[in-house]
Amino acid sequence: MSDSEPKRVTIDQFSTVSQYLALRCSRCAFIASYNVGRIWVESLDEGELTPENVSFSNYFKCEKCGSSGPFAVEDRKRLRNILRSYNPEDPRWVCLGHTVLFDNTLIQSPAIGEDYLRHQLEKDPGNAFLCTRLGNLFRSCGMRLKAEEYYLRATGLGPGDTEALYHLLSFALDDCDAPGAWANAKALVRAYLEGRTMRDQELTDNAAYSIAHKLRSLAPPLREYFLAQLESSSDASEILLIRQLLTDQGSDSDIIWTGASELLGESTDDGPDFCPSLLTALQAGGLNENGQLLVVVNIEGRRLQINDRNKILFTDGEKQAEWNVPSLRELFRGSRLPPSDIEDPEYLMYLMFIETQLLAICDRTGDFTDREIGEVYSALRRRPDGRSLTPLHAAMWQKLAYLLGTFALSEAQFDAILLALEGSCRFRAMRPVSRNYIQHVRRFLNDPGLD
Ligand SMILES: [Zn+2]
Repeated sequence: MSDSEPKRVTIDQFSTVSQYLALRCSRCAFIASYNVGRIWVESLDEGELTPENVSFSNYFKCEKCGSSGPFAVEDRKRLRNILRSYNPEDPRWVCLGHTVLFDNTLIQSPAIGEDYLRHQLEKDPGNAFLCTRLGNLFRSCGMRLKAEEYYLRATGLGPGDTEALYHLLSFALDDCDAPGAWANAKALVRAYLEGRTMRDQELTDNAAYSIAHKLRSLAPPLREYFLAQLESSSDASEILLIRQLLTDQGSDSDIIWTGASELLGESTDDGPDFCPSLLTALQAGGLNENGQLLVVVNIEGRRLQINDRNKILFTDGEKQAEWNVPSLRELFRGSRLPPSDIEDPEYLMYLMFIETQLLAICDRTGDFTDREIGEVYSALRRRPDGRSLTPLHAAMWQKLAYLLGTFALSEAQFDAILLALEGSCRFRAMRPVSRNYIQHVRRFLNDPGLD
């Protein structure tokens, strides 16, 4: 879909912005200026705009009669100016499309969405799914307390509404509320292990990685509290998994994946399948190949420094092993074809393998720009063994060698993985100097819970 085609978007897919517009209430005709947030229009032709085809991202109600609208745009001149400033590359202020609810009901604003969902909930008061939708709606408008109220109502209705539990865990972590985080983490991990899912498989998968990442990177006071609770806890399966995420030694990205795979009930037997040269190198260095491994990246000051990309240094935390890799091409194995859908969980795992390692570098050096990262992905895809002109290229070459040495991937699969990485980076990039992609990766690992 190109950027200029109208699309349907649920409201909590964006952060809020401040933008004022004079509106007339259709109930009482009162006119006032409202902070409407992002504006969605079905058409850029101002003459065609009726209340039905303009929608807003912020929550507001009529200042006089308290109704949720709909509202007509009173200040047409200002709307015209806003439409003129439409820029598909910077959709913060105005976008083509319309906001909708989960069932594709068109809504003009979150307040109207709230009326609709409350009405549905009155007819079906025990519906946890609707409660979670209301929670998401309020969360999207920054109305934390209201969101929490509905998530709590959702979790109170049955065992483990995973999406509501996920957001309650995120809130507790943001607040550094240790007992709350502990209780929600246990309930959420248990819900996953019992096979409960979210609205769709993609969200269920993405949230599993995020949960594993959140638990692996707890803030120190939370971590201390969790460790103390683990001491006195039973050996229930959720406790074992949380303990493993908190205390296993080794590469964070490996531990996060293993944890996420276990949350998703996927067999981890088809995990590492080392190529012979890597296995020999690990054994020669006395490293346990079944333990957790980490590629040593040399960063001096905040500068990445790779003197010889062909010598890749591994550590298990104690010992080190050097693996000599003449070329990436030599590491291609088999002739498996990539799936038609890159959202396939196996592929998501490969993308995460690379992205978490890139993020770990950026956390130490500062974020690379979208252009820098995009160019590296693109160059490595077109010419896997082309010369490394930048340290980032050399570092990513090593990470890809690690990926290919660990999993049996064909050239076609390798190409598909890099194409997906490159596409994701280009999709986020707004300007060459923007750093949206790596920020997206960081945000995604912290909160994939987009509605
Ligand atoms: Zn009114």
